[in-house]
Amino acid sequence: MLKIQGSRLKEVACATQPGEKPELLTEVNRCVRCARCKEVCPAYRATHDERKVARGRLMVLSQMLSGELAPSPGVREVLDACLKCHQCADICPVGIDTVRLFCQGRSLLPGPGMRSFLTRLVFRLILPHRRLYDLFMRLARWGQKLMPRRAGGLRHLPLMFEGRRSVPELAKRPALSVLSERTGRGPRVAFYVGCLLNYVYADTASNAHKLLKQAGCEVIVPQAQLCCGLAALYAGDTKAARRLATHNASVFSECEAEYVVTACATCATMLKQEYPLMLGPGWAGGAQVMEITEFLTARGYRPQGRGTPVTYHDPCHMRFAQHVVEQPRRVLSAVAQVREPAEAGRCCGGGGTFSIYHYGLSREIGQAQAKQLKDTGAQTVATTCPGCMLQLADMLGGDMEVCHVVDFVARAISSGNRIERGDFLATEPRPVPS
Ligand code: SF4
Ligand code: SF4
Repeated sequence: MLKIQGSRLKEVACATQPGEKPELLTEVNRCVRCARCKEVCPAYRATHDERKVARGRLMVLSQMLSGELAPSPGVREVLDACLKCHQCADICPVGIDTVRLFCQGRSLLPGPGMRSFLTRLVFRLILPHRRLYDLFMRLARWGQKLMPRRAGGLRHLPLMFEGRRSVPELAKRPALSVLSERTGRGPRVAFYVGCLLNYVYADTASNAHKLLKQAGCEVIVPQAQLCCGLAALYAGDTKAARRLATHNASVFSECEAEYVVTACATCATMLKQEYPLMLGPGWAGGAQVMEITEFLTARGYRPQGRGTPVTYHDPCHMRFAQHVVEQPRRVLSAVAQVREPAEAGRCCGGGGTFSIYHYGLSREIGQAQAKQLKDTGAQTVATTCPGCMLQLADMLGGDMEVCHVVDFVARAISSGNRIERGDFLATEPRPVPS
């Protein structure tokens, strides 16, 4: 399979300037209309609408860039109604980096409407300032208490976000205010927490932190870390994304860590793939960036294959953007029998803000995945992305427990009757191959 070369990718990297339009058009026009992307695109599979598949989106973008089509809300809708799941990029025989092109096209659209104005305000004013962000989330937590409750700690969103949508309760305290800043001994790991683990799944952040320490590492949690910026990048606000990335690069470089590890599949995509394009490959002071199951496996995790059945949901950002497929399964199989869904790699329909602004379609995609997860007969679904956890909890509505792989493993370890620390790690933790 012919894939786009790294240097070429860099040429069309994130922040598109007006003078770069011809280059972007050349990239967009590499599409050979083979329709392979139709086989995999979750939005197309649910709608059979040509404007909701990469081929159609690229066609619209091409027409806009060549001046046949005016930049309009219609074009924005075509580029926005995408889960950014990378499945089309993964299957594309000519190696078009579709998601990047959609983001670049999105950044060229003028005149933000009220919705874009408000999201930009969040990206540029709140996310770069931790105290303001904390305050914003504290207010959101109080506001959340006014919403009706559902099973499993879920609350309905107000009507302005579509009435049926449920979200988990925000954490009482952000993970960053709870985790020790420095603990353990061994190779130094800087833990990148990310927004959802910080403000929603703080217990998952604690479990990840615990496992890293148990894996024989010195774990550092830089307090000054900020949002990774992927949401801003996907919304076309490349300036805000770059600002957040630059800040995080300076914070993590100062840690002098050997590894930067995150338990969020989406943040891992940003840190591994977008930061190097924006800031250069050594952005973290030379530290190797890894997703947590990838890291634990490389450190010498020894699977046991005992315990209660569990099924695993592949986050699109893990499977299609990073190609990390086996590692979470190996980590889980240390403590449980892993039951595969009929079609591994199906999208849950989350896609960040996609699930808010296109809830009907998001739900249709998510329900299909919920059904096949239930069909495995497992009581629990584990995954490696807090965004998928949020979406799956809504889709499953209490029919199955939804957790992160590190939650499942930490619980099995603390139960003490199936697994000891000596079982969890290889006798001698290995250095991570670069
Ligand atoms: S990123 Fe996903 S949703 Fe968007 S066009 Fe590609 S396959 Fe479809
Ligand atoms: S798979 Fe690639 S080349 Fe084929 S239609 Fe889709 S975007 Fe175009």
